[in-house]
Amino acid sequence: MSDSARRPMVAVIGGGYGGITVAKQLDDVAEVVLVEPKQSFEHSIAALRALVDPSWLTKVYLPYDKLLTHGRVVRDRAVAVESGRVVLGSGEELTPDHIVLATGSRYSFPGKAGLLDTDEAHALFRSSHEALAAADRVLLLGSGPVGIELAGEIKEVWPDKHVVIAELGDDILPGPFMPELRATLRRHLDELGVELLLGGRLAEQPSVEPGTLRTFTLPTGDGDKITADIWFRCYGVWPVTDYLAGDLVAARTAEGRVEVTPQLRVAGQESVYAVGDIVAGNRPTAAHAGRMAEAVAANIRAAVTGDGEEQPYVPIPPAIAVPVGPRRGAGQFPGVEGVVGDEIIADVKGRDLMTGKIAGDLGLPE
Ligand SMILES: Cc1cc2nc3c(=O)[nH]c(=O)nc-3n(C[C@H](O)[C@H](O)[C@H](O)COP(=O)(O)OP(=O)(O)OC[C@H]3O[C@@H](n4cnc5c(N)ncnc54)[C@H](O)[C@@H]3O)c2cc1C
Repeated sequence: MSDSARRPMVAVIGGGYGGITVAKQLDDVAEVVLVEPKQSFEHSIAALRALVDPSWLTKVYLPYDKLLTHGRVVRDRAVAVESGRVVLGSGEELTPDHIVLATGSRYSFPGKAGLLDTDEAHALFRSSHEALAAADRVLLLGSGPVGIELAGEIKEVWPDKHVVIAELGDDILPGPFMPELRATLRRHLDELGVELLLGGRLAEQPSVEPGTLRTFTLPTGDGDKITADIWFRCYGVWPVTDYLAGDLVAARTAEGRVEVTPQLRVAGQESVYAVGDIVAGNRPTAAHAGRMAEAVAANIRAAVTGDGEEQPYVPIPPAIAVPVGPRRGAGQFPGVEGVVGDEIIADVKGRDLMTGKIAGDLGLPE
């Protein structure tokens, strides 16, 4: 398809893991417009390391300018999206043939900084790094992968800091994972001297802002108390769908996610799709976002070129890689019996935190 005037327009709303994959995979057959308010791609998978070592910031914030050859990245926010129509914050209106919603989720800092300007995001990481460096006692709320990984990153750089992970549940790592995986991760944390406060023993949340250097003391529910100099929120994924308008509003669930068909069309729609963290019933991971994006791109490509059949999305079974610092960790992979150990976890994630792969996806040197 060399004549761009005849290409159907695909508007991709959101340039996270899912959005860049759809946009790139359709760039040769469609007029792709990727709408993204952030100046740079934010590679959240590596964000925790950038907090303990700000030299990683240039691997976390990556430019979009090499992503597309034919299409364009519009630095703006979609403020209203309905079938066939996208209204941007600037007032510009797009009338695409296909729309892919990929607006993902908000997450607490340092997982996602939530800032549009790259220099401001770098500055936030640097000031939080200084605050963390000066803290002796660190409290992490939430023992999902982010809490565990952040504890490992902190201990790698500052082995003598006192790190406590507080968790509402009776064990770490909620989710569909093997008990042996939890046991291995608990052992890693124990060897590093990370303390676990399980079963909701922390009766209150700190009143101090997260990421701020200020000593506070909280009761632990058993007459005891915990004192820390800084804390970080390591739980909560808030889907972003506030721009849904007109006929798309009906597909929004009470939790703010989007109902989809097996082909990942937004429920009730012919040419509006959704991928990633906003999809109802999906486990919010970049791996799922990427896989959904590939499925949607293949279906739109088939519709555009007339080649191939539309296929349903086939979800991936539960899988996780949890580094505890760059050299150790544990994971659970489909088709692999037992817990995946240090070496493989360091290879697939811990050492470079997928920075090479993401740079490659964005068309940058790996
Ligand atoms: C610390 C951390 C570590 C993680 N590690 C892993 C891991 O190892 N493996 C894994 O699979 N997952 C991991 N995840 C989860 C993963 O980051 C998310 O699942 C992933 O970001 C979801 O991708 P997405 O494309 O759905 O959305 P996002 O990556 O959230 O991207 C959405 C994009 O949409 C943009 N946007 C929002 N609103 C609008 C709008 N109105 N108009 C236009 N654009 C908009 C946002 O600016 C953003 O760039 C991790 C998450 C965190 C926080």
